[in-house]
Amino acid sequence: MDILADKSEDPAFKDIDRAALIKRALEVQPKSYAPYSNFNVAAAVLCGSGKIYTGVNVENASYPAGICAERNAIFHAAAEGERQIRAIAIIGGPRGVVSDYCSPCGVCRQVMREFGAPKKVLVIMAKSPTDYQEMTLEELLPLSFGPESLSFHSHPSVNRAISGGQPMRQGNQLPLPQCT
Ligand SMILES: [Zn+2]
Repeated sequence: MDILADKSEDPAFKDIDRAALIKRALEVQPKSYAPYSNFNVAAAVLCGSGKIYTGVNVENASYPAGICAERNAIFHAAAEGERQIRAIAIIGGPRGVVSDYCSPCGVCRQVMREFGAPKKVLVIMAKSPTDYQEMTLEELLPLSFGPESLSFHSHPSVNRAISGGQPMRQGNQLPLPQCT
């Protein structure tokens, strides 16, 4: 499988303006706060509504308190009421110099999974608006654990296993984001 195969003809991604998304990330990259790693990252996420939200990495003297650009952008979107992401563009490099494709960390891949079906989220790792690599979230995070994994309704075998053979009540279902 060629995981870097061209996805421009994929119906799920055909209409996505990659260059516009990458430009939004490039615009905010100077706002990255990375005094410890000096690795400045920015992300722009395209949501189901058609709106774009941006984020940068924000580090902290207490290192684990920092956050990646991708999660910052996605949480920004979620705080505005978005519940579906279609694509995310990521750019980054040492001291803001983008010389290579920047891949999302594992934690950010899992956060993307919360708000998108794996085959329908496009991850664009860019050097410039015209130079980028793209992969689906499924390619970056195979065999993933997502919201529906906790849905007793859609997985009867899990339902039975947890309830000891008794059907779970409807009220036990969790409210799930729409990611189809
Ligand atoms: Zn990350």
